[in-house]
Amino acid sequence: MPNWTLNEITQAVNGKAMNTESIKPVSGVSFDTRTLSQGDLFIPLTAERNGHDFIQTAIDKGASAALWSDPVENAPDDIPVIKVKDTLKAFQSFAKYYLHDVSPKVIGITGSNGKTTTKDMVAAVSSFKYKTHKTDGNFNNHLGLPKTILDMDRDTEVIVLEMGMSEKGEIDTLSKIARPDIAVITMIGESHIEYLGSRDGIAEAKLEIVEGMDQGTLIYPGEEQLLYTRINNGWVDRKVKTIKTFGKTEGVDLFSTEIQTAMKQTIFKTNQKPDVACTLPIPGEYNVQNALAAILAGEALGVSTEDSYAQLSSFKLTKNRLEWLDGINGSTLLNDAYNASPSSMRAVLNYFKGIDVAGRKIIVLGDILELGAGAEAIHRDLHKRIDAGSFDEVILYGDLMHHLYEAMSEKTNASKIHFFSGDKNTLVSYLEKNLRSNDTVLFKSSFSTGMLEVVTKLRQQE
Ligand code: ATP
Ligand code: MG
Repeated sequence: MPNWTLNEITQAVNGKAMNTESIKPVSGVSFDTRTLSQGDLFIPLTAERNGHDFIQTAIDKGASAALWSDPVENAPDDIPVIKVKDTLKAFQSFAKYYLHDVSPKVIGITGSNGKTTTKDMVAAVSSFKYKTHKTDGNFNNHLGLPKTILDMDRDTEVIVLEMGMSEKGEIDTLSKIARPDIAVITMIGESHIEYLGSRDGIAEAKLEIVEGMDQGTLIYPGEEQLLYTRINNGWVDRKVKTIKTFGKTEGVDLFSTEIQTAMKQTIFKTNQKPDVACTLPIPGEYNVQNALAAILAGEALGVSTEDSYAQLSSFKLTKNRLEWLDGINGSTLLNDAYNASPSSMRAVLNYFKGIDVAGRKIIVLGDILELGAGAEAIHRDLHKRIDAGSFDEVILYGDLMHHLYEAMSEKTNASKIHFFSGDKNTLVSYLEKNLRSNDTVLFKSSFSTGMLEVVTKLRQQE
């Protein structure tokens, strides 16, 4: 557990401490009183609601101190407060200070898909040799990243930080807080294209990860032309000393060979160790690419490929990514409805198409959100990726999926394809009535469509 004095924090955030008569040590940080623990520094943020309004709850739950940017006369007088101009900036400065103080090796991970998976894999590889701290779940933004840093123990040797974004400039901010020694870009897809204009805009935004680096190692998918071109034009030379690439074919430093996919695991070999196979305890061929990135990160940390293989064979994935669940009526549910982008939708459909299952194979797809003006066309074009012959039923849900439904209806047997929108209970009732023993059902959708609720309702009750 970290531990700070009020003085140390005050200096780190360049603030002014008040009510310092009864000082208690600070052993954590919290910007949300619902999860605040005794001894925390409370950080009131101002977004839709003013966090300062929750100060009394923070005090009642045992906060040791609080940052404060509201007028001083509104500050409580029964716990120490540190007056700052901007609580968010102070929070980020505090994280930067603590990271510098502990000085672990920092690994930053960004990319359109596969960040959380790769983060879990890199942390597994790193922990073979080092005391490793990693982003909890998906805490990857301007709040989650400083929180992750401030949750780290003082004896941490490696910290693995997921860096998410939806707009330009966000990764730049995160990278300048974290100052990665090793940066990983998993892949470039189309997520958040609404805000970034094009895939090239996305590549540019992901490459902001080098901005906080100082002669570190950059790991990226070498077959991605948009990254390759920028990197080889000298874009990263000011910041990066070593560049390592991964992919599927010769021409990159580390590529996969002999991939075998199964329902619950994926086996592959690499050009570096052609005689030894690595078994990932998760399905999805795309995860081999995430694993290659992790092996290269391990290499940069001094973990051998064989030791990385061993670590990867037992790594634990953050919940809700492609999880197998027992469903009603003896069915099996494959839940990947935590998020969706066109690239992850294609990747998971490709995986699902390839596996052997006992009974019927059914797909339930919900809208992919945040695609901007191209959303209709992207949904419609998915019909080129869905080989209706590979699935027994195709169930589409949501207004955007209606475009795919129209495109598919032209050439697909009507009894095989179903469309729902609005009330999710209609979809749930349909599945409750129709699912039967040995059916395997894939759910894939953006989080905000609420598809996870559908999955929850269709799980077999204990
Ligand atoms: P988020 O933006 O929610 O943080 P993420 O980048 O952390 O997402 P993961 O949670 O690791 O990504 O994976 C989400 C989904 O993306 C997976 O379930 C899978 O469908 C897909 N995916 C993961 N890795 C890849 C990859 N390398 N290429 C394509 N799709 C991938
Ligand atoms: Mg994530």
